[in-house]
Amino acid sequence: MRLISRTLQDTPIQGKQTRLHLNVYKYDCLNLACPDQTFTETLPFAGWKQVRTDALNTFILGVAIFLSNNGASKVLALLGVNVSNDTIQSLYDRIEFVDDIAIKRGNVYAPRFMISATIT
Ligand SMILES: [Zn+2]
Repeated sequence: MRLISRTLQDTPIQGKQTRLHLNVYKYDCLNLACPDQTFTETLPFAGWKQVRTDALNTFILGVAIFLSNNGASKVLALLGVNVSNDTIQSLYDRIEFVDDIAIKRGNVYAPRFMISATIT
């Protein structure tokens, strides 16, 4: 077990970009047959590969839903969020995927950006 550092971009405060600097535990698996040799502590507000918090992804999509990706990227920069139009598109693409699965399972969600909390 050891501590590793993670940095996540979070929702802006007073128009200033914010980052969370976290120390999370990384564990070594003692089971020799296990395919994962190490695993990292999970966080309730961001998947282990995410560089932005779930709250920020929801914030980004909440703005982007009314604008082009390029326009949203510029408006978000004014609000203190550093995100490219390509990243906005990839957030949309991942929602689509979750949405498709949800529809196949017979679930109906209301606003699409609400689902961003499940982006991994
Ligand atoms: Zn294991």
